[in-house]
Amino acid sequence: MKKYTVGVDVGGTSVKMGVFTVGGDLLFKWEIPTRTEDGGKYVLSDITQSLEQAREEHNIALDEIAGIGIGVPGPVNKDGVVEVCVNLGWGRTEVEKELNALTGLPVKAGNDANVAAMGEVWQGAAKGAQDAVMVTLGTGVGGGIVLDGKILAGVKGFAGEIGHIGVNPHETQSCNCGNKGCLEQYASATGIVRMTKKYLEEHETASSLREFADITAKDIFDEAKKGDEVAMLNVKKLCRILASVLGKIALIVDPEVFIIGGGVSKAGSILIDGIAEEFPNYVFGAAKKSCFVLATLGNDAGIYGAAKLVI
Ligand SMILES: [Zn+2]
Repeated sequence: MKKYTVGVDVGGTSVKMGVFTVGGDLLFKWEIPTRTEDGGKYVLSDITQSLEQAREEHNIALDEIAGIGIGVPGPVNKDGVVEVCVNLGWGRTEVEKELNALTGLPVKAGNDANVAAMGEVWQGAAKGAQDAVMVTLGTGVGGGIVLDGKILAGVKGFAGEIGHIGVNPHETQSCNCGNKGCLEQYASATGIVRMTKKYLEEHETASSLREFADITAKDIFDEAKKGDEVAMLNVKKLCRILASVLGKIALIVDPEVFIIGGGVSKAGSILIDGIAEEFPNYVFGAAKKSCFVLATLGNDAGIYGAAKLVI
């Protein structure tokens, strides 16, 4: 009888791990540092050792665990293989096969943003939905698509890479991916700041933002909430760009709900309401009635979603 499932979320600096009941209750969670040295060759063995230790401490037998789900910060193909993962120092890594050999447990691997979307669908903001799209607005812009209760990974693992959908063919600066004009360049925390600073440089409009030594994304939302004209205008611009991309996605996958997560989503209703207001301009008919919610699991979305992959 399988009582438990394990969720692992591998990040560039730490690995988050959690043991759940198969019913979806988080029993306990912990973190270990990510050792990226020597091509990241210790990452999977460190996870194995740490899990063994946790099993001993909590008296959990190996055969009580359904398996391990693992989220990785890069594209993971359908066979659980990573071609390259810069953040971990990995070259080609057969994550599922290798972790299975180390632990003796069934393993399912996925891209971290896709896995986080699964977490929110399983036990978070979109609980109960079968079709959902999540956008994570953080240092970068990530995305995850869940259709019929399953992650849409794509053949090469690039499905849901919403942050690199082009939104501006006239952009002159390069995105982290090498192209120019990606959503991430406008809708990430750094993107919002970049866009607003540019506006302040090009216009004379009075703004409370001019008094900040170093503007953050939070400052822009806070000043917009207080009614600052420049901040409001740039938040509106951000919401319009996001709405236009989510509108395109709605016309392709028609999800039940859009989940907005990541550090930037802490801005709350100003962001969600702004997107919802602009969204109908980019779709038609019943698609206009799409629903937007804020992610609720925060940094735990990854371990929740990973744990769900194996049950
Ligand atoms: Zn890009």
